This record gives sequence, C-alpha cells and structure tokens, in this order.
Amino acid sequence: MSLLERWLGGLQARLLLSHLLVVAAGLITVFAAAGVTGPRLFERHMAGMGHMRMNGSGMAAMQAAMETVVASAFQRALLETLLVGGAAALLTAIVAGVLVSRRVAGPIHRLAAASRRIAAGHYAERVPVTGSDEIAQLAASFNDMAASLEHAERRRLELIGDVAHELRTPIATLEGYLEGLLDGVVEPSGPTWARLHAEAGRLRRLVEDLQELSRAEAHQLAVVVKPVAPQAIVQAAVDRLAADFAAKGLALDVSLAEALPKVQADLDRAVQVLTNLLTNALRYTPAPGRVEVQVSLAGQAVRFSVRDTGIGLAPEHLPHLFERFYRVDKSRSRALGGTGIGLTIARALVEAMGGRIWAESPGPGQGSTFSFDLPVAR
Ligand code: ADP
Repeated sequence: MSLLERWLGGLQARLLLSHLLVVAAGLITVFAAAGVTGPRLFERHMAGMGHMRMNGSGMAAMQAAMETVVASAFQRALLETLLVGGAAALLTAIVAGVLVSRRVAGPIHRLAAASRRIAAGHYAERVPVTGSDEIAQLAASFNDMAASLEHAERRRLELIGDVAHELRTPIATLEGYLEGLLDGVVEPSGPTWARLHAEAGRLRRLVEDLQELSRAEAHQLAVVVKPVAPQAIVQAAVDRLAADFAAKGLALDVSLAEALPKVQADLDRAVQVLTNLLTNALRYTPAPGRVEVQVSLAGQAVRFSVRDTGIGLAPEHLPHLFERFYRVDKSRSRALGGTGIGLTIARALVEAMGGRIWAESPGPGQGSTFSFDLPVAR
C-alpha cells in the first residue's frame, strides 16, 4: 500500500474530505441557487408589477414606484434563494457530520466499554476491528493488549495450580511417614530418616527454584555480563559434578575447540546453566553411559552442548521442555529429585545473557543433546 493510499484510507483524510465536501456542497448550492433559482424568482416578482404599468399617471411617480417594487422583489428573491441554498448546505453538513462522528465515536465508545470490562477482570473482552484507519489500528492494538493480559492472567492461575500440585506430593509423603512414626507403623530407622530428609530437601529445592523462576518471569534475575573464557565455565561446572558422575558410573568427557574467543556472559549464571544441563544428563542417563560437553565456535556465538547416551526424547516433547513444570515422565523426574523448573530457569538465564537454548534427540532411548549459544565478546 503506497503512502498516499494509506493516508487516503486514514481518518485524518476522511475528516478533511468530509469537511471539504460540506464546503463544496455549500458553494455549489449557493451558486446554483443564485444562477438558476434567483433569476426565475426575480422574473416572477417582476411579472407581478404589470398592473402598475396600466394605472400609471405620471412618469416620475411610476418610476419611483417601480424602483421600490423591483428592489423589494429582488430582496425577497435573494432571501428566498439564500434560504434554499442555506437549507441544502445545512442538510449536507448534518448528514456528513453524523456519518463522520458515528464512525469516530462508535468505536471509541466500544473501546471505553471494553476497557472497563477488562479492568473488572473480564480478560476475554475484545472489540471488533473494521477497516484499516487509525481507529481500526487502535482497536487492533487494544485487542493485542487484552490478549497479553489474558495470557498473563492464565499463566498466573496456572502457576498457582502447578505450585499447589508440586507441593502436595512431598508434603503428603512427609505427612504419611510422620503419621506412620506416630502410630508406630513405621520403624524409626536410618532409611526412614533418610527418606524424610530427602523429601524435606525436595521441598527446599522446589521453593528455591520457584523463587528463581518468579524472578526470571519478572525479568529480575541478576545477570551481569562481561567477557568470560568458555573454559572457565566448563571447568567450574565439571568440577561440581565430576564426583556424582563417577559415583553413578558414567563417563564425563569434555571436548573444547582450539582458540575459542571469550563470551559475553555472567560466569556464575553460565555455570548454573551448564550445571543444570549436566545434572539432567546425569539424572536421565542410566549407567553404563557417557556424557560429553562440547564447546565450539558457531558464527558469532560459542556453542556449549551436553550430549548424553540416556533415555532420549520423543520429538513431540522437544518444543515443550523449557516450559515450567513440563516433564516427560512426572513420577520419574520426581523420583530422581527433579522439580520441572530447571530448564525454564536455564532458558531465562541464557536469554538474559543474549543467547538461546534448545534440545535435540534422535528419539527415545537414543540419547539427547542440550545446547546453548552465548554471544562472542567484542
Ligand atoms: P526436571 O527437574 O524434571 O529435570 P527440567 O526442567 O530440568 O526438570 O527438565 C524438564 C524435563 O525435560 C525433564 O522432566 C525430562 O523429562 C526432560 N529432560 C531434561 N533433560 C533431559 C535429558 N538429558 N534426557 C532426557 N530427558 C531430559
């Protein structure tokens, strides 16, 4: 659509055109009336003077009388002409004014009513979008705003539901054990204390992750980026988990490309992300297995990949893994100490550092690869 076409379709042009129309209509009517109706009326009034000519007694008196009659006839003709013209112009102005103000005021009233409904909590409220002028654009933006408010509200409600659901399981387990202990049905033995301790730990992790998640969703995660060597990130994460991999009987290998540039990152946060991916690889890879951290240059970014020989993922799960509380197998994740929020936080952190994160897998039972890119430091 050309600039002129867009302007012509706009409200401004329409208002201007409608007013020009009113003026033009007024002028045309006045001219038409003065040119066509005026002379005819004038002639009719002049014809009314015929009887005066018959009864004339003196030239001077007759001329004076004629002048008066002609003047008054002309005045009446002009007045009638202007009345006709004025009425026509007024009618045109009224019709154009009503049409324009309806086009402007109608949608604005609808917008005002819809915003009151949204303020009262009816987030599904939308307004009709007709045409492509500024009011239609306003209605479309209003609908976009209403849609994102509705989405935010839905996510808030889902979060409350998810959190309540996630808290229920460890609390029910704790309660069950404590009741058993009170009734003397459960032995106050080492394994019982270990189980209670594990459940309390799960609750603590969940609360910590939730806190981090709420900060991530409010974009309040403290992330301070500066040039960081990729080796430092890998070293710190591997050091943290090497013992756990050895204890489970999994090989943990690192393969770093040569002469990697520094990345723009927050060292602690980048280590947190890589640790999270490694913890998942550890969690979802049965022994004997192998996990490899690969770091290479990928265009303007450095790519960190964690490849495992674990349980793998079906393609339909891949796009959802980074949604909060999304777990392929809830009970398995829970049994392994997962909270279902790790990857959501990882994504928020990577994005806060200007990178991206994704998952790949050839299919269930065939291992998976989780990768993230961090921008090369300038
Ligand atoms: P969780 O705490 O449950 O591990 P995450 O957000 O870290 O939560 O991961 C979400 C889900 O992604 C997991 O429940 C699991 O189903 C899947 N997943 C994550 N990492 C792997 C992996 N390395 N191999 C297979 N599945 C994985």
